[in-house]
Amino acid sequence: MSEKCFICKSKIAELFLGKLKGTAIKKAGQSQPYYVCFECQKKLNNNKEEMLKYL
Ligand SMILES: [Zn+2]
Repeated sequence: MSEKCFICKSKIAELFLGKLKGTAIKKAGQSQPYYVCFECQKKLNNNKEEMLKYL
């Protein structure tokens, strides 16, 4: 399984056991998570509100 970062569209590195190097955020009312890579997470200071603006 490989997920893409929805901000920069690059593939997110997997660490182990399918754990992704990055984070997943959910939009209110949606069950499907969106993935953010570690670099973008860092760039946005891990601010989920900022991440959601890219959706
Ligand atoms: Zn990214």
